[in-house]
Amino acid sequence: MLEWYLIPEQYRSEIELVRKTAREFAQRYFTKELAHEIDKKEEFPWDLYRKAGELGLIGPTIPPEYGGGGLSTELGSAVITEELVRTDTTLGQCILSGAFGLFALYLFGTEEQKKEYIPPVVHGEKTFFFALTEPEHGSDITELSTTAKREGDYFVLKGIKTFITNATTAEYGIVLAQTDPEKKYRGQTLFLIHTDWPGVEIKPLKGKMGQRGSPIGEIRLDGVKVHKDYIVGGIEELNKGFYRALQYLNIGRTHVGAVALGMMLNAFDKAYEFAQKRIQFGKPIIEHQLIQQKIAEMVQLIDLSKLAVYRSHLILDDYVKGKIEPRTMAAISSITKIFVTENATKVIDYAIQILGGSGYMEEFEVERAWRDHRVTRIYEGTTEINMLTIVDAVRRGFFSI
Ligand SMILES: Cc1cc2nc3c(=O)[nH]c(=O)nc-3n(C[C@H](O)[C@H](O)[C@H](O)COP(=O)(O)OP(=O)(O)OC[C@H]3O[C@@H](n4cnc5c(N)ncnc54)[C@H](O)[C@@H]3O)c2cc1C
Repeated sequence: MLEWYLIPEQYRSEIELVRKTAREFAQRYFTKELAHEIDKKEEFPWDLYRKAGELGLIGPTIPPEYGGGGLSTELGSAVITEELVRTDTTLGQCILSGAFGLFALYLFGTEEQKKEYIPPVVHGEKTFFFALTEPEHGSDITELSTTAKREGDYFVLKGIKTFITNATTAEYGIVLAQTDPEKKYRGQTLFLIHTDWPGVEIKPLKGKMGQRGSPIGEIRLDGVKVHKDYIVGGIEELNKGFYRALQYLNIGRTHVGAVALGMMLNAFDKAYEFAQKRIQFGKPIIEHQLIQQKIAEMVQLIDLSKLAVYRSHLILDDYVKGKIEPRTMAAISSITKIFVTENATKVIDYAIQILGGSGYMEEFEVERAWRDHRVTRIYEGTTEINMLTIVDAVRRGFFSI
C-alpha cells in the first residue's frame, strides 16, 4: 500500500500496469527448478531473456524509436526490477543485467549508434557489456592500462578488462580506454567494440559466489583497430569517457538499489511464511517475541529502502533530462546504493536465522538470495567508494541535508 503515497499521481496507472506485467511474467516463467539449474550450471537463461524482451521488460524507459518500452518514468524500471527479483533473485537479476551499460549508449551515443545497437538488446536478442574494470584498476579508474593509440582515422586498443558482465554472451559493448595517457582521467574515451573483431579475445570467469546465471569474463584487446566512428557519441566525445562513465554509474548505482530491494523482499517473503508455519515450543515461531523483533526490523529496513529506491528513481527522471548536477545525483545514488545494499545483508541474514537450519540449505532458497545479493555491495562502486562519493559531494557543496 505504501507505494501509493510515493508514486506521483500521473504515473500511477502506468506503474500499476508494469508491476502487473512484470509480476505475472515472473510468476509464470520463474520456477525453482530453472533457478537451481541456472545457478548450478552458471548458464545465462536466454529463453527467459528473450521473452522478457518481447514484453518490454528490458530497457523499459528507452524510447520506442530505439525499440524500448517508452515508459515515462525511471520508477517503472525500479518496479520491474523489484518484481522480477522479488520472485527469484537469480533469474530476475540475470534478465536485468543482460542489458547492463546499454543506457550509457542511449544517453551518450550518436543517433546512428543508438538506432543500430540498442534495438537488438531491448528486444532480448542480444546482451551488452560496459567494461571499465581492469586487473590493476578496479575502484580507481582515474588512470587505465588499456590504451587506444590514434593512427589516422583509427584507434588501436590494447589492454585487458576483467570481471565484465556479459563478456561471454554479448556480441558488442562499450570499453573505456586511455586515449591520452598523460591527461589521466581527462584523457579517456568510450569505444563501441564487437567481440568478433580481430584482436579481441574473451575468457570466461567461472566460480562466482552468486548471480551465477549472469556471466562475467575477461576481454583481452590486442591491437584492436577501431574506427573513430565507434567512439561513443562520435569524435567530439574524445577524452570525455571518464566523465561519461561516472555519469552513467549514477544511474547504474540507483538501479543496483532496486535489485537489492527485490532481494530483501524475496528473503522476507520466505522468512515470513516460514515463521507462520514452523512450530516450536508449542506455537508458530512468529509468536515468539525475538522472532517478531527480527520481522519488525526487516519490515522497517525494507520500507525505508523502498522509499530510497523510489525517490532516487524519480530524481533520475530529472537527471536524465539534464536538470540535476551529476555530482548531486552521484550523492543521491550512492546514498541509495549503500543504504539498500548494506541493509539487504542484514535483512537476508535475519531471514536465514528465522529459517534456522533450513535457512542454510539450498532447498529453502534464502541461501541463494544471500549469495546473489552479496556482490551488490561490491560492483558498480564498493560501499567504501560510494561513501567517499557522498562526502566529496557534501564538501564541494553539491549535496546538503
Ligand atoms: C559479479 C561482478 C560483476 C562485475 N561486472 C562488471 C562490469 O560489467 N563492468 C566493469 O567494468 N566492472 C565489473 N565488475 C567489477 C567491479 O566493479 C569491481 O570489482 C569493483 O569496482 C571493485 O574493484 P576491485 O574488485 O578491483 O577492488 P579494489 O578496487 O581492489 O578494492 C579492494 C577493496 O579496497 C577498498 N578500497 C579501494 N579504494 C579505497 C579507498 N580509497 N578507500 C577505502 N577503501 C578502498 C574497496 O572498497 C574494496 O573493499 C564486476 C564485478 C563483479 C564481482
